[in-house]
Amino acid sequence: MRERTDREPARVGEDAAAQARRALSRLDAWLEERGLKHSRQRNVIVEAFFEMGGHVPVEALVARVRDQDARVSVATVYRTMKLLAECGLAIPRRFDDGQTRYEPAGQRGHHDHLICTGCGQIVEFENERIEELQVRVARSHGFEVESHKLELYGRCQSCRAARRKAKEATP
Ligand SMILES: [Zn+2]
Ligand SMILES: [Zn+2]
Repeated sequence: MRERTDREPARVGEDAAAQARRALSRLDAWLEERGLKHSRQRNVIVEAFFEMGGHVPVEALVARVRDQDARVSVATVYRTMKLLAECGLAIPRRFDDGQTRYEPAGQRGHHDHLICTGCGQIVEFENERIEELQVRVARSHGFEVESHKLELYGRCQSCRAARRKAKEATP
């Protein structure tokens, strides 16, 4: 089983700047095909997104982008991230807190998530046996799986340790 947390973002041979450049050229080509113009603001948003890495809440991205350029509107950030998802460069995620997050696509391929309900830490994992089992369960009900999302909610190690300490402190 492979896993990774947002605290140690993936750097599989390519840094955030290179990732952003590659994404931008793909986005430009994609926009051109559809007769859409590219914009400087969009570049700022895409660069900030890849710099942040991991599972980026749109609201946090808005704050980061507007730090750099206060003229960028919230709507532009949302629209840009939608475009990025449509052309396959970002994956939208919506966990139980109701926030929309995006994570960079590619590199990692399919994975599922463990989410800490204490501190919000997100861990990615991939488990072949779980993947197979899901296909088998679906088949036994006459289904063919096209996609799935598996989210496990609970307390991470450090939140559990903090809880134990708090319990020990109360007599
Ligand atoms: Zn936690
Ligand atoms: Zn993920």
